[in-house]
Amino acid sequence: MNDEVRVRYAPSPTGYPHVGNIRTALFNWLFARHHGGSFIIRIEDTDVARTVEGAVEAILDGLRWMGIDWDEGPEVGGNYGPYVQSQRLAKYQAAAKRLIDQGDAYYCYCTTERLDEMRNEQTRLKQPPGYDRYCRDLSVPAGVLKWMSGLKRVVRFRTPFANKTTFHDIIRGDVTFENSTIDDFVILKSDGYPTYHLASVVDDHEMGITHVLRAEEWLSSTPRHLLMYKALGYKPPEFAHLPMLLGADRSKLSKRHGSVSIIEYKERGYLPEAMVNFLSLLGWSLDGKTELLTVKDIIKNFSLSRVNQTGAIFNIEKLDWMNGIYIRDLKVDDFSRRVIPFLEKGLPEEVIRPVSLEYVKKIAPLVQERVKKLNEISELTEFFFVDNLKYDSNILVVKKMTRDLTRKVLEASISELGELPVFSEESLETVLRPLADKLEVKTGQLFGTLRSAITGREVAPPLFQTMAVLGKERCVKRLQEALVLLDKVQDKLAEE
Ligand code: GLU
Ligand code: ZN
Repeated sequence: MNDEVRVRYAPSPTGYPHVGNIRTALFNWLFARHHGGSFIIRIEDTDVARTVEGAVEAILDGLRWMGIDWDEGPEVGGNYGPYVQSQRLAKYQAAAKRLIDQGDAYYCYCTTERLDEMRNEQTRLKQPPGYDRYCRDLSVPAGVLKWMSGLKRVVRFRTPFANKTTFHDIIRGDVTFENSTIDDFVILKSDGYPTYHLASVVDDHEMGITHVLRAEEWLSSTPRHLLMYKALGYKPPEFAHLPMLLGADRSKLSKRHGSVSIIEYKERGYLPEAMVNFLSLLGWSLDGKTELLTVKDIIKNFSLSRVNQTGAIFNIEKLDWMNGIYIRDLKVDDFSRRVIPFLEKGLPEEVIRPVSLEYVKKIAPLVQERVKKLNEISELTEFFFVDNLKYDSNILVVKKMTRDLTRKVLEASISELGELPVFSEESLETVLRPLADKLEVKTGQLFGTLRSAITGREVAPPLFQTMAVLGKERCVKRLQEALVLLDKVQDKLAEE
């Protein structure tokens, strides 16, 4: 039982859920699911000033949308709770107290002014930044006096000067830091809140975390954590630092590169399964070439030994391509159900909500192939929903047509279509092809005219199917409206 894998995702609720963060969550989840272990969520809200309201919900929503479930954490509870650090302050304070009593930590009474001066001095002398250990050897009575005089104090870790800290990172191999390069960092702030370092170590220990999979930016924190594990007598977990996510220009992925919030991807109509597939390949690969993988396959094959050290490029074109493939693979019913929220959001106000699923199912096969992101759906299909088309009437006179010939075509079509007892793709085919011959125009000229009049655009889904979905009444009405519009069009012989 003790070799059960336990991993955690430990977001700080300081903003929207960044895709890089979600990738970290995903890798932890994949690792847990692969090993049949537990995936735990812990909210690291100890930076009170930076905590943003609603951020926890946004993070959890993002995970839920991706299909990432958690075994312990907010909402679900568990045996090692609470899973919110601000509700665990006594544990960190007790650990800090123990470190002080052992001589592994000490109170620091330095004022902000003193620390600012120290920093300026270090910059001036081009020295590395870091606390100068001013209070490290302060005697207890001297400290008590400062405390009594009302000075605030923090607790700092007494980092040893000598030796190095070496650890084995599962992804990076052996990593060594000289202890002399690590300053006496704060572990407990003056308001009684722990810093990330202390809280992370205490909780990873108390929650029985076996593997810490986190972003590369935390690599340099690891020696500090290991020194604390040692001082506290805890067995450290294993560490794996995931490669950074980069933009196309190979700099760290940020807002400059476009959307970075997972919620924006959801809102733009990426499918969660495409997102899981895409994010899983940011740093991990099955064999260096397979691109399309179901989540089941990813879980089955996920291994840290196939995670790269080098940064992973977030290539939005690849995501779009992948999303298009996932969309095309959806069953029509599923596709229809998924586009409804996008239609209800994107269609003009005049269109009555709720949008009918039955109707969308008829339109879906005509456009599904062309959709790369679900939010394109409204633009593509608006003419199926609105009563009055708004378009540039010039598009009625298509290539190699004149205004008079267009009028003739429209009039003839109105009377032919009006007579049709059954208005289906097949029946339209049967009457419209001969009609072109009768009018002595090319089918392209006839169909182009009809397309403009019926959809209000020059590029649209297959014409007969579109007309069949719209139905006779609406098609005839649109042709009549086109006749009226035609009067406004300058007569011109379209050039070759
Ligand atoms: N709260 C840290 C973050 O937001 C967690 C780092 C870690 O996983 O140790 O990234
Ligand atoms: Zn000090």
